[in-house]
Amino acid sequence: VEMNGSWLQKRSQHSPYKIAVIDGDTGERWNYKQLYDRSNELAGRLLSAGIGPGDRVALLSPNHIVYFDLLFACGVIGAIFVPLNWRLAQKEWNYIVRDCKAKCVIVHDEFLEESEQLECQVFSLKELKEKQRRSDRSHVTQFKDAAAIIYTGGTTGHPKGVILTYENIASNAINTIVSWGLHGEDITLTCLPMFHTGGLNALSTPLLMAGGTVVLMRNFEAGKAIHLLNLYKCTIALMVPTMYSMLIEHPRFHGTDFPTMKTFLSGGAPCPLEIYEAFYKKGKLFKEGYGLTEAGPNNFYIDPQEAYEKKGSVGKAMLFNEVKLMINDNKEAGEEEVGEIYIRGSHVFKEYWGKEAETKKAKNDGWLRTGDLGRKDEEGYYYIVGRTKDMIISGGENIYPLEVEHILCQHNAVKEACVIGVPHPVWGEAVIAVVSKKMETSEKELLTYCKARIGVYKIPKKIVFVSELPKTAVGKLDKKDLQETYRGLFN
Ligand code: ATP
Repeated sequence: VEMNGSWLQKRSQHSPYKIAVIDGDTGERWNYKQLYDRSNELAGRLLSAGIGPGDRVALLSPNHIVYFDLLFACGVIGAIFVPLNWRLAQKEWNYIVRDCKAKCVIVHDEFLEESEQLECQVFSLKELKEKQRRSDRSHVTQFKDAAAIIYTGGTTGHPKGVILTYENIASNAINTIVSWGLHGEDITLTCLPMFHTGGLNALSTPLLMAGGTVVLMRNFEAGKAIHLLNLYKCTIALMVPTMYSMLIEHPRFHGTDFPTMKTFLSGGAPCPLEIYEAFYKKGKLFKEGYGLTEAGPNNFYIDPQEAYEKKGSVGKAMLFNEVKLMINDNKEAGEEEVGEIYIRGSHVFKEYWGKEAETKKAKNDGWLRTGDLGRKDEEGYYYIVGRTKDMIISGGENIYPLEVEHILCQHNAVKEACVIGVPHPVWGEAVIAVVSKKMETSEKELLTYCKARIGVYKIPKKIVFVSELPKTAVGKLDKKDLQETYRGLFN
């Protein structure tokens, strides 16, 4: 089977009048036939704009149907879709368009002003619409061709362009549909940014393949998200933990039971256990997934029953991918041992754009080294422990920040906690916690709380209070920022 981009055409033939996409901000809706026609039309206009097979076409837009239009239009003419993170600075956008040598950037009205300084040819949506629609295309996309380049958030350095092929995207979608049991009656709210794998590929492309409905939300706001989930009778949604924290603190949260929602999914970052509880109290299924741009992003599945019993676990590998935990790259971790998460499957990315050495480091014999740490319990359930790079070595002991963060977050007064290692003259690295509060507390009180619950070497040497923790564009805690701020604390 050719897993190229043409599945949308087939879907539009199977269920032409089924609603595919709803713009939650404007209420506009498009059925599958319209969605396919839009991408086909855009493909013709891109040809007139001089875009051809292999050309990179960047997009600067808030969550909007143009993401799907362009992704599928690129499939029609063989171009490569490069969504840009709208929260980046000019300099960073220019880094990316230069890095991938984009032929043009398509810019949504909201960003027209900022786009003036882009070092690239810019088209507004209106300008594109005025182009003639050519139909003399001859390209046939192959499933090993690059469909998109998604730049990773750069929470750990320069952004790297992750090349995803048509096969990668389709494999993730098929695996997700089959393993998670998605179907045409499912409706999701896409509130994660669509330049990110979470907004684009976790549920949006799988649901379009399944014939479901994707409701788009431009800017995340908790009250609006609750309203849209109910208004459009959503059944499944994915958010990062920060969004869930905002959701459960919103006054509207207490007034609704989300009658149509079947699954609340968290991913992208470690999820505090108190968030699970807030949904359990409403009788709602809440579970955690784990993924990354380089693989899918979806990799795990946990059954509803087990999700309650194994709170905090991401479950087991999905049907069409493999997972293992490795120690020092040469030995599989045993039960309850911490190892690096390795993933294999046809959803694993092809390569980093123009970064052969990085690709070699990340991929070995088909296995992706994720740079994340996990453990497996006696029944084979996986738990995410943290990132290899975030592991703290203090006085020769390994400390996993997530474990300490989970303890701190269970304290009533703690809103958010981020645990990092900073250079220390005696310990090599010292554990410190940066905490935002919900109510009054002190360093002494939190340290006493930790001492009663975790080994002494894991207890922070210092707790710093801040009013708000820094976040990345996707809403993840920005550890790099905190590491830079506090690196001189003990020197
Ligand atoms: P970078 O630029 O360093 O690759 P990123 O966060 O922007 O970082 P993404 O592909 O967006 O890269 O996110 C993937 C990462 O998110 C994973 O490698 C992992 O560290 C983290 N992550 C995803 N799901 C979970 C989870 N359930 N628990 C903990 N961490 C998670």
